[in-house]
Amino acid sequence: MRGGQASNNLVKMRAQHAFARENRRHASSLVVCAGTGKFVVGGNWKCNGTKDSIDKLCASLNSGKITADVEVICAPPMVYIDRVQSKLKAPYQIAAQNCWVSKGGAFTGEVSAEMLKDANIPWVILGHSERRSLCGETNEFVGLKTKYALDTGVKVVACIGESLAQREAGDTLNVCFAQLKAIVDCVTEKDWENIIIAYEPVWAIGTGKVATPDQAQEVHAGVRKWMSENVSPDVASKVRIQYGGSVNAGNCDELATKPDIDGFLVGGASLDGEAFVKICNSAAHSK
Ligand code: PEP
Repeated sequence: MRGGQASNNLVKMRAQHAFARENRRHASSLVVCAGTGKFVVGGNWKCNGTKDSIDKLCASLNSGKITADVEVICAPPMVYIDRVQSKLKAPYQIAAQNCWVSKGGAFTGEVSAEMLKDANIPWVILGHSERRSLCGETNEFVGLKTKYALDTGVKVVACIGESLAQREAGDTLNVCFAQLKAIVDCVTEKDWENIIIAYEPVWAIGTGKVATPDQAQEVHAGVRKWMSENVSPDVASKVRIQYGGSVNAGNCDELATKPDIDGFLVGGASLDGEAFVKICNSAAHSK
């Protein structure tokens, strides 16, 4: 075995042991209750596309057959949302990838929740790890944004997830809980009807390194247990927890079988219409 491979394995083993230790601390039994909400798949197109490629993607999505019982939400770049809205047919819904923390005004380059509402955009993704790490969005800021969007009538996909260093330090659940707490501190119990949690380990986003179904299930179950204890058992069972991080047409079916995985947030593979439709149809494998 080459040195690089051996040290990679060592890092993986350490991370697994740290994670197991952490789980023992946090939970005697991680499966509290499986999610009961409808499977939901989101496509985060990020800052990708041209008019031409977006038209092709819409055509490919429209011609794909979504046969499973699944809610589907596509998040194009802001400048193309209007175009996509006029092209995509049901069951596709639209999300923005971000919005401002308060009422619009002198905030150059931003888009307000009121504008999303006015433009009939029902969803917004907030707290994506790229915005946290590249734009400096803190837990508290994401909590405030979530509340403002909800109060304006825009539903929220709220992203949480740990970095590789945090996982290796055994901090996965603590990081996710702190991110969730900042949202819980801002919203009411009723608001949770309009929030989807997307668990997206940062080390799995855009890297091709998907979490194993067991790794994802462990965190999802931990998050659901935390929601049960810190919000309510009813909200915990109903809130949908998506997994995100290198989901593709080949790994989605197995991930979907896990009881606490209620859907996916998909980046790269959502730019391929055929692959994305296959991922949506993996809902048929969910419990
Ligand atoms: C994402 O950015 O939300 C994401 C999950 O990306 P990818 O599927 O490419 O890892």
